[in-house]
Amino acid sequence: MKGDPAQGVEVIVLGTGTSHGVPMIGCECPVCSSDDPHDHRTRCSIVVRCAGMSLLVDTTPELRLQCLAQRINHVDAVLFTHHHADHVMGLDDLRRFNHLRKGVLPIYGMAGTLDRLQAMFPYAFQTHVRTQSSKPDLTRHEIDGGAFRIGEARITPIPLMHGQMPVLGFRFGDFAYCTDCNEIPESSFALLEGVSVLILDALRRRPHPTHFSLDEAVEAARRIGATRTYFTHIAHDLGHSETNAVLDEGMRLAHDGLRFAV
Ligand SMILES: [Zn+2]
Ligand SMILES: [Zn+2]
Ligand SMILES: [Zn+2]
Repeated sequence: MKGDPAQGVEVIVLGTGTSHGVPMIGCECPVCSSDDPHDHRTRCSIVVRCAGMSLLVDTTPELRLQCLAQRINHVDAVLFTHHHADHVMGLDDLRRFNHLRKGVLPIYGMAGTLDRLQAMFPYAFQTHVRTQSSKPDLTRHEIDGGAFRIGEARITPIPLMHGQMPVLGFRFGDFAYCTDCNEIPESSFALLEGVSVLILDALRRRPHPTHFSLDEAVEAARRIGATRTYFTHIAHDLGHSETNAVLDEGMRLAHDGLRFAV
């Protein structure tokens, strides 16, 4: 499936770390102790701006700090890849965006993801309680099929496997974001055809049951063939500069604060 070439996309990478973040609490390894700011990784999230919409993907435990650091002052909708804690625990901070936009904030995800969010944060979905800024005010939008639109922004969900768990990546024009996965189904390779910039999970060198290792991610990235691939969900095993020095041309570790246009 081809993206819509007229749909220009701007991407702001908010976080690139694995579930523990880097540095990890209580670790003094060379990467956790590194002075290089590229080795400091908050949990994985991005903002995508396209067709006049500002779309946040996931709400990490550091959402507030990430939005302050990257000056994110407007969000039109939130997309969720899955319900793991490192991707959702900052949900309460969405109330600030309710206030800024003076209205409800639509959130998008698979039914199972939204059910888990609603169980974790029931108050955020109680529409009869209107208490201004004291709680997020969210409306559910289930993703249950192919491409959909938020305003004029066209989004293609990319089904991925995260161990035994189905999760979603998302394609916006010629950019795709695929965090938290260790398998891309054949039908999803087809959905990724023609992407020019890809962000893909690459946890560490050693294999892992629910995340691509660096070698596995490189292999998948070569097959997808984007002009540029950035790796994310990075553990403390991978130092930024040492790892980038040995990656293929056109492949790099992402870092918090990375911005690019597609
Ligand atoms: Zn994760
Ligand atoms: Zn460490
Ligand atoms: Zn996960």
